[in-house]
Amino acid sequence: MGYLDTQNKRECFGCEACVQICGKGAIGIYEDEEGFRYPQIDPSKCVSCGLCRKVCPHKEGALEPHDIEYAFGGYLEDQRLRQDSTSGGAFSAIVESWCQDKYAVFGAVADGLEVSHYCVTDKVNLAGMRKSKYTQSKIGRSYIQAKEHLQKGERVLFSGTPCQIAGLKEFLGGVPQENLLTVEVVCEGLPSPKFLFSFQNDVRRRYGSGIAEIDYRNKDKPRWDFNVMKLTLENRRHIYIDRWFNPFFTLWIGRLMSRPSCYGCPYTAQTGLADITLGDLWGVHQYCPELYGENKGASLVLCNTGKGVSAFSAAQMLMLGHELDINKILAFQKRLRKPIEENPRREEFMHDLLEMDYQSLCRKWVPAPSLQLLWSKYIWGNRQKVFIWNLFQKAATKQQNGR
Ligand SMILES: Cc1cc2nc3c(=O)[nH]c(=O)nc-3n(C[C@H](O)[C@H](O)[C@H](O)COP(=O)(O)OP(=O)(O)OC[C@H]3O[C@@H](n4cnc5c(N)ncnc54)[C@H](O)[C@@H]3O)c2cc1C
Ligand code: SF4
Ligand code: SF4
Ligand code: SF4
Repeated sequence: MGYLDTQNKRECFGCEACVQICGKGAIGIYEDEEGFRYPQIDPSKCVSCGLCRKVCPHKEGALEPHDIEYAFGGYLEDQRLRQDSTSGGAFSAIVESWCQDKYAVFGAVADGLEVSHYCVTDKVNLAGMRKSKYTQSKIGRSYIQAKEHLQKGERVLFSGTPCQIAGLKEFLGGVPQENLLTVEVVCEGLPSPKFLFSFQNDVRRRYGSGIAEIDYRNKDKPRWDFNVMKLTLENRRHIYIDRWFNPFFTLWIGRLMSRPSCYGCPYTAQTGLADITLGDLWGVHQYCPELYGENKGASLVLCNTGKGVSAFSAAQMLMLGHELDINKILAFQKRLRKPIEENPRREEFMHDLLEMDYQSLCRKWVPAPSLQLLWSKYIWGNRQKVFIWNLFQKAATKQQNGR
């Protein structure tokens, strides 16, 4: 039994596989008060065929994840594309290598605060898919479209959160999948869209203009590990907010406003469901500082299947980096070890989110960053540590050459 029978929100990822499989158009989507999307069956149209329950990925023993076969850390050689990507741009390298002749790429694209899955059949239109959008992407008819492309014998690259990949796999069932490459992100969960709308109201009040675009991880200056959010307002003004001064990150990472199904998510594990898993190379300054570069972003790439390994071997030619020891990665990647836990005060927070204005909400829930934290980020942070490491490296090389 899953969400469609129990209405237990923890049991629904919002992947919309059920909506897309229903040939009777009997399942609609509604947004709850927190802004998360859930399916709803219209009993007057339902013929009880059971297909929606069958494709739901939230069920016991649904899909078997794979062990990691190969781990890589690095970044694109093309510095412009690396700049336009969240981490090191591995996604673009994989698209470049996998998509030949006739193909379709599926991924998340933003339009203001809304995010939806789109399909492109020409790589020149990939730009909108680059960059992480930290809000749930509406999947729309993407599974149906992906199936159509596969049935025409075309190559398909489908990217998304692990639960979206799970929904796709269940939806496709017995459709031949040798032309399908799936790419998932390491997943921290999804924050409530309601918060962004409250934030938008505050921005409008303060700057007299709404938000046209959010770049959650901007790199106008090379500060990848600062998670700098860049807002482009409708009046074209730009605002930059560092991670430690941004209530969005504090509340999201504080587990106060995640989608209920993200607490205890089965895909936050040391195995991958997709052929390839992508993430940030967190901890790079400690276990492979040579890949930190100028803090312009580095990717973690985990290949979980033979297909993933062979697809990435071509993509790797477009990147600088090397194989990594999975045990070292795991120490810095909590979301490859265990799911997020629900903050015991979530209910109280969500109540306040719906009742309070943005300023009052932040005053109550967002503590100012401590001096110790700011010291460890701005004064003696990763960048400074890598700088010292580089000095030692140079001195050691000089000494060796002098011998
Ligand atoms: C909600 C979310 C949570 C994440 N949490 C973590 C984490 O905890 N640790 C970590 O190391 N990495 C996390 N990532 C992954 C990381 O932010 C980068 O997306 C990843 O490293 C790919 O970066 P890139 O440079 O290769 O390519 P980019 O070009 O930046 O790739 C973007 C890719 O992400 C997909 N994408 C973007 N937004 C969404 C969305 N809303 N829903 C589904 N797919 C989306 C695109 O379809 C595309 O495949 C998360 C990503 C998302 C979307
Ligand atoms: S049981 Fe069949 S007809 Fe009814 S909602 Fe599910 S898929 Fe649609
Ligand atoms: S198929 Fe997806 S959207 Fe439908 S009930 Fe299952 S998890 Fe929720
Ligand atoms: S944490 Fe799990 S349920 Fe939540 S978006 Fe990520 S994959 Fe889906």
